[in-house]
Amino acid sequence: MTDSKTKIERLDDLVFDNRFIRELPADAETANHRRQVTGACYSRVLPAKAANPQMAAYSREVAELLDLSKEICESAGFTQVFVGNRLLSGMDPYAICYGGHQFGNWAGQLGDGRAINLGEVLNRRGEHWTLQFKGAGETPYSRNADGLAVLRSSVREFLCSEAMHHLGVPTTRALSLILTGDQVIRDMFYNGNPKPEPGAVVCRVAPSFTRFGSFQIFAARGEIGLLKKLLDYTIRTDFPHLGEPSREVYLAWFAEVCRRTAKMIVHWQRVGFVHGVMNTDNMSILGLTIDYGPYGWLENYDPNWTPNTTDAAERRYRFGNQPQIAFWNLGQLANAIYPLIEQVEPLQQAINVYTETFTQHWQAMVAAKLGLNVYDPAADDPLNTELLIILQVVETDMTLFYRKLAGLVMDVELSNEALMLPLMEAYYAPEQLTDDYKARLGNWLRSYIKRVQGADIADAERIQSMNSVNPKYVLRNYLAQLAIDKAEQGDFSMVDELLELLRHPYDEQPGKEAFALKRPDWARQRPGCSMLSCSS
Ligand code: AMP
Ligand code: MG
Repeated sequence: MTDSKTKIERLDDLVFDNRFIRELPADAETANHRRQVTGACYSRVLPAKAANPQMAAYSREVAELLDLSKEICESAGFTQVFVGNRLLSGMDPYAICYGGHQFGNWAGQLGDGRAINLGEVLNRRGEHWTLQFKGAGETPYSRNADGLAVLRSSVREFLCSEAMHHLGVPTTRALSLILTGDQVIRDMFYNGNPKPEPGAVVCRVAPSFTRFGSFQIFAARGEIGLLKKLLDYTIRTDFPHLGEPSREVYLAWFAEVCRRTAKMIVHWQRVGFVHGVMNTDNMSILGLTIDYGPYGWLENYDPNWTPNTTDAAERRYRFGNQPQIAFWNLGQLANAIYPLIEQVEPLQQAINVYTETFTQHWQAMVAAKLGLNVYDPAADDPLNTELLIILQVVETDMTLFYRKLAGLVMDVELSNEALMLPLMEAYYAPEQLTDDYKARLGNWLRSYIKRVQGADIADAERIQSMNSVNPKYVLRNYLAQLAIDKAEQGDFSMVDELLELLRHPYDEQPGKEAFALKRPDWARQRPGCSMLSCSS
């Protein structure tokens, strides 16, 4: 097909088919003031006007999903539309009502406090893509906050959504990152130091932004009619393969949410991603990674690590706890739809799907990271358990260790030092490498070599398959911060450079090795690099 068939000519040619607002009940109140919204799934609200919008970056792959050409994306009209200054015909902006458990406690109504949905684009392939601004001003759900987002958190959301997609991790996407030209006041560490920061709007894109908390709010309020409406709508639009809604289909739907969530979490554990705020309002029913706030990437392998300073005491959302938290969150979703099922037993069976799927995919993921074609529990449970301990004995960069393991010389006769040689770049403190450590790692490497040789896997095949699941490039926390430092000076070149780099995270990309290095020492304690708060 030629470009003219697959791309639209003008922004105004975008076709909107706004199923969510057409089929679900709207809030009768239309004024934009903060309130409890009952009897409705959403409230109509207009984006705020930006004083002096400036395009910072856009994703050409997401533009393609929307049939948008490079020329359109780089036009002044695009900047005006995607900062919220001009509505296209067919856009009908709204904020969605939802609730959620925050840090384990029911928090009541939350909702799109700084997200505004513009509508659903119907592209030329017949797909629906919901456009959603983050940071375009207050909504009825803004509670005590301003509905805005600062540049630093918007750069983080924009880059990470796209990086995750290219890593093969299910995620919401990001079309554009546009500065508003307005200043936003933030107290970054909630320590009495508020200061103005540049404001920005990210346009997020996903088939749907429905969250676990979207169902929870109606169950909590006893609005069972609305609960049923939203679930029937969700099944018909996003899960049509399950058939017409019925009690059986509700259960099949819940099982599918469990399955998708399990797969998403396994991907997070594979690439070393820590979400940071796995509240039930931040859990997508499509199993997409959603709401990039104080997330982070594991540098030295530490299952207890969380980047979120707000969670520093309890570490509820630490890396190693993410699988259990997802299960807990699914339990809350099960509670929410219980009124439509009215039996505990089938819901309990459905939630077992999470554990089964998780175990199956986690084992396959562990095997793949080690270049094995199947996970053999008898051999691989002890092999992997020992490896995960070894990775914590001394500070070891997770991404580098797995990537470099592919380059191991597969000879059990080599000395410990010779075997370790390809892995040396992964160590943060080589002086910690005692003889005991070397002996322990050497033993592990020899067991690993024997396991691979026993499975008769050719070295070229092992290397290739490992390099397709163990990324060379991830959005290291300090890299995002360096791009932010520049962006705050009006220079978006590093945002573009990282976006380009992270399009091919599994490729060697000669000349880009500097981005694959372990975290430099200065970044260890620098805010934004290892510590983040929810302030964004
Ligand atoms: P989060 O934990 O960031 O997902 O946010 C929890 C809730 O707070 C959601 O309802 C958000 O929409 C809302 N929220 C977060 N930041 C802001 C803000 N700056 N203005 C208004 N609402 C916000
Ligand atoms: Mg959220």
